Amino acid sequence: MFGRALRRRFTGLFLRRPVALWHDPRYRLPLPSIEAATGLQPRRADFAAWYLAATGAITQDRIQAPPRIAIEDLARVHTPRLLESLGRPEVLAGMFGVDPDAVAADGLLDAIRLACGGTLEAARTTLRTGQPAINLLGGFHHAAPDAAGGFCPLNDIAVAIAAVRQEGFGRRVLVLDLDAHPPDGLAACLAGDPEATIASLSGSDWGPLPGVDETVLPEGTGDEPYLAALQALLGRQRYPALAFVIAGGDVLAGDRLGRLGLTVEGARRRDLLVARFLEGAPQVWLPGGGYSERAWRVLAGTGLAVATRSRRPIPADYDPLSSRFAGISAKLSFADLGDGGDLTAEDVEEALGLRPSRQRLLLGFYTASGLELALHRYGVLQHLARLGYADFHVAFDSSGAGDRLRLTGVSDGRTHLLVEAILEKRRCLGVQVLYVHWLSLRDPRAHFSDKRPRLPGQEVPGLGLARESATMLARMAVRLGLGGVAFRPSQYHLAFTARHSFTFVDPERQGRFEAMVRDLGQVPLLEVTRAVAEGRVLLNGQPYAWEADEMVYWLRESPSEPGEVEREAGRVRFTLLPEKAVGSPTASADGTPPPARPSGPSGGAGA
Ligand SMILES: [Zn+2]
Repeated sequence: MFGRALRRRFTGLFLRRPVALWHDPRYRLPLPSIEAATGLQPRRADFAAWYLAATGAITQDRIQAPPRIAIEDLARVHTPRLLESLGRPEVLAGMFGVDPDAVAADGLLDAIRLACGGTLEAARTTLRTGQPAINLLGGFHHAAPDAAGGFCPLNDIAVAIAAVRQEGFGRRVLVLDLDAHPPDGLAACLAGDPEATIASLSGSDWGPLPGVDETVLPEGTGDEPYLAALQALLGRQRYPALAFVIAGGDVLAGDRLGRLGLTVEGARRRDLLVARFLEGAPQVWLPGGGYSERAWRVLAGTGLAVATRSRRPIPADYDPLSSRFAGISAKLSFADLGDGGDLTAEDVEEALGLRPSRQRLLLGFYTASGLELALHRYGVLQHLARLGYADFHVAFDSSGAGDRLRLTGVSDGRTHLLVEAILEKRRCLGVQVLYVHWLSLRDPRAHFSDKRPRLPGQEVPGLGLARESATMLARMAVRLGLGGVAFRPSQYHLAFTARHSFTFVDPERQGRFEAMVRDLGQVPLLEVTRAVAEGRVLLNGQPYAWEADEMVYWLRESPSEPGEVEREAGRVRFTLLPEKAVGSPTASADGTPPPARPSGPSGGAGA
C-alpha cells in the first residue's frame, strides 16, 4: 500500500538516528467539539505517529506508551489549589473553552497527565542515552504554578525539569519555545531555577516576560524572516546539557490562533536548524499548539527532521486516516467480519420457526460480532469509552430504504443510540457503490449550548467521528467489491466535512461547491451552514438554495471530465449577507431543528 511505498522512499536514503517517541491513543482529547471551536486537530498525535511508523523514520519498537504522571511529581511545581481544582469539570471546561457537561473530566485529565508522564520519561531517557526524544503531546507553556491557561492545565516541561533536578541533575537547561505564543506560564514556573533559560520566538506580544529571551515577530512573518530571527536567537544561546524544544504547529499561515505565516516546509527548516544546533545534546521535542488541519504535518515533520534530517515533503495527497485504516482492514480476514457459516442454537431455532427470524447479516456479508471487532480495531469503541459509554452492542434490521445498522452504548445505567446508518448497494454513474441513506453519529450525554451550538439537522451533538466513519464506509465498500461510497449532504457542513474524500457527482455542482468553500472558507463553518439554511448566502448576487445532490467517494478513478469543475468554479462567486439582512423565514428561527427522520437524506453527522 501507500505506506510501503513511503517506507521504500525513506529507507536507505537517510541516516536514521535512534529516536525514542512517546505516544498513546489517549492523547486524543475526548472533546468532540474542540476542533470546530478552536481548530485544534484532535487526531494530530495519532496522524504523526502513524506517519512516522509508516515511513519507518521511527520504528514501531521505539514508540513507547507514557505513564500517567504522579501527583507527587506535579506537586513540585503546582500549588495544591490548582491540583485540586483540576478535578472539577467546570475548571477543565473553562480551560479548553468548552461546556462543563461536554467534558468527560476523567478522560481529559488522564490525557494531560499521560502527556506530562511522557515528557518526564522523555527527559529521563534522553539524559540517560544522549539520544533525542519526542513526546507527541505536551509543551503546555501557559500553565503557571498556581494558574492554568490556554489549553494548558499543567506545565509538563517545568514538572519534568523539577523531577530530574530532584534526581540529581543540576546542569544547564535550555527551553526553546517555538510555539507562536509566548511562554508566560513557563517563565513563572522556572523563575527560581538559575540554570534554566527560556528562548522564544512568538507571533503575539503579551508584554515583557522576565527572564525570557524573546523575539516578537510581526503578524504574518514568513519563512525567510522567521528563520533569520531563529538563527539570531540560537546564536545568543549557550549549548545546553538538556534542551526542551516546543516545535509549535501554530506557526503556519492560516492557523486560527498563531498569527505567523510559515509554510509546512518552513517549519521543517526551523526544526532542522534547531536539530543541528542541538546536535549531541540530550533533547526533548514537544508539539505545543496547532490550530489548523495541517498541524499534524508540522509534527510529523519534526519527527522526520529529528530522526532523518530529511527535507523531503510529506506527499500533499497523503491521508493518514485512510492509509492507517487500509492497513488495519488488511489484517481483518473475511472470516473475522463476515458469515463464517457456523450455526448457533438461535440459527437452528429460527430455521425451525421456533423463534422470529433476525437479520443476521448487514449488506449480505457482515455479522454483528464482525462489525464490533472492526469498530474495536479501528479504535472507535475506545474513543466512545473515553466519551463515557460502555457495553457496546451492534444490531441490524432492514428499513424501507436499505439495511439499518445501530450501535448502542450504556452510560449512567441507560442504553443510548450512538451510531445509526442505513446502507444499500446501488448504482451511481453505472458503478455499483455503497449508498448511505442516513448516518447519524450521536453523543446523547452532551448538550447544545453557546459554545456548542446546534448545527442544522442535529438532534444531539455529534461524536467527532465523521472522518473515521467515512473512512470505515470506504473500507466496507472495498471489502464488498464496490466502486465507491455515495450520500446526499442535506446541509452545507456535511459536504464541507466530507470534502476531503467526497466530490459531487455532477462536475458543475462540484464547481459551485468548491467556489463556495473558496469564497466563504474564512467564515466559521457554523456561521456558513446557518447562513445557507437561513437564505443569507448569495450566488452571483442571487439568493442561493442549498443543492443536496449526490456526493461520491470514488475508490477507483473519478469519472468526471477534467476542467468542468474549474470552469463552473470560475463562473460563480458566493457572498454572505449579515444576520439581520433578511427576515428569518425558516423553520429554524424558533430554534427547533427539522425532524431527524431515518428515512430522509443523510444528516446529523457531527464533525
Ligand atoms: Zn501556541
